[in-house]
This record gives sequence, structure tokens and C-alpha cells, in this order.
Amino acid sequence: MSFERIVILTGAGVSAESGIDTFRDSGGIWSKVDYRDVATPEGFARNPAKVHDFYNQRRRGLLRVQPNAAHRALARLEAVFGGSFLLVTQNIDDLHESAGSRKLAHMHGEINTALCEACGARSRWSGDMTINSQCPHCSTVGRMRVDVVWFGEMPYHMDRIEAALARCDLFVSIGTSGNVYPAAGFVEQANAAGAHTVELNLEPSEGHSSFSDAIYGRATEIVPEFVRRLLAAEVDAAFERIVPLP
Ligand code: NAD
Repeated sequence: MSFERIVILTGAGVSAESGIDTFRDSGGIWSKVDYRDVATPEGFARNPAKVHDFYNQRRRGLLRVQPNAAHRALARLEAVFGGSFLLVTQNIDDLHESAGSRKLAHMHGEINTALCEACGARSRWSGDMTINSQCPHCSTVGRMRVDVVWFGEMPYHMDRIEAALARCDLFVSIGTSGNVYPAAGFVEQANAAGAHTVELNLEPSEGHSSFSDAIYGRATEIVPEFVRRLLAAEVDAAFERIVPLP
């Protein structure tokens, strides 16, 4: 099978083997902390210091982790694949970029970016953030927040993502439980576009029955193998185009 327009969606499962906790798995982030306290605008208004601490810890944790074989395989797919390509991630870590991905949309924002609630400017942010942090653009103190999309907020890049889904011929969902919309609905949008849809996950996700195909296992094993087979099929298809088989 040969494809021309690929959309990939990744979730916390793709970074799990790099040492970043997932959200909903047993022992995951939401079993240790209430998302209403740290991942909603209301939680931030109630206790901004607690929210800053939560993301400061996670930002510091990123200094100790590296992209894994699944991140690297997706970067290789982007580099080698000749058609249109978009990698949409729900992850706020920077492991896809570190692996070399460039055609990337962080739909839930990025932990290494700060957003000033006073002037709306975004800035790269590598250290801790506090209730006294100052905006590098407008100099206002005390209005900085991490630039991640909290529950109840609108995910980023939706126009670009929906345009890519509407014309994709292959949609692959990797390491996501399929619980959080709008990402959980992408498979249906891809199905409506007539795409082949594939789930790569540790176990069947909430929406597994919507996919045409599935491979279950650890991301560092199944993603490189899937990419290898996909690129091999592309090479076969290219030869078929150049030298028609008798
Ligand atoms: P999730 O924890 O809900 O699901 C992770 C999935 O990865 C599971 O299906 C699990 O089976 C799978 N998995 C675990 N280890 C794996 C491995 N080694 N290989 C392959 N698969 C593996 O995470 P998600 O689906 O990314 O969820 C989207 C999340 O976005 C929501 O949980 C939401 O909380 C989160 N979110 C967070 C913020 C924030 O931090 N502020 C903001 C918006 C959304």
C-alpha cells in the first residue's frame, strides 16, 4: 500500500519509555495529582504557586530524558517520506523536536514556552516559573503561565490539523488512550476522509474499534518496525511506478 498524505497523532505513551509518566495509566500523573488543581484555568486562579511548582518539576524532569527509538523513527519517517506529512502531538515535552521532527504541531502547547496573560506574548522558558516571574516582552510581573492547554481551553493549531485530516490517506495514532477530545475524534475525521487508520498502542484504546488496523506493544518496538515497513512499501511502490511489473 502506498500513501501520499500522512497524519500521525502521538500521546503520552510515545514518551513513556523515555521516563515521562503517562496521565491515565495506573501510577500515571492523574493518579497522584488532581487535574482540576494543576491543569485548569480555575486551578491556576486558586493557587498559581502550586501550578507553577507542578510544571517546574516536570520541566526539570525533561533535562534528564532523551528521545527514544519511537521518536527517532517518526523523525526518520518525516525525513524520508516524499509526500505531505504532519506530526500532531498531545505531549508538552520536546522529545519529538530533539529527535529531529520539524513538521510538528503541539496541540496542547509546550512546557518550555511561557505565555504572558497581560500582553499575550509567548517566550521560550527553560528555568522555573514563579508568581513573581516577569514577562520579557512587556515587563509585567506576576502574569506569566506555562503555555500548555488546560482542560476547558481550546487546543492549538486546530485549523492546520483539521485541514491535514480532511485530506490525509493514512492516519496513525500512537500511545494515546483516546480519552481527550478533540484528539480522540481525529480517527473519525480521518475515516471520513477515506484514510487508512492505524492504532499503535500498548493496549486497545477507548476508540480502538474506529481504526482499520492496530498493532499492540511497546512504542520503542512497534513504531520503528511500523515505520520500516511503511518506508519499504513506499520504495516498492516507487519501483512499481518506474518499472511497471509484467
Ligand atoms: P494517557 O495517559 O491518557 O494515555 C497513554 C496511552 O499510552 C495509554 O493508552 C497507554 O496504554 C499507552 N502507553 C503507555 N505506555 C506505552 C508504551 N510504552 N508504548 C506504547 N503505548 C503506551 O495519555 P494521552 O492519551 O496522551 O492523553 C492525552 C492527555 O493530554 C490527557 O490525559 C490530558 O490529561 C493531557 N493533557 C495534559 C495537559 C497538561 O499537562 N496540562 C493539558 C492538556 C491535556
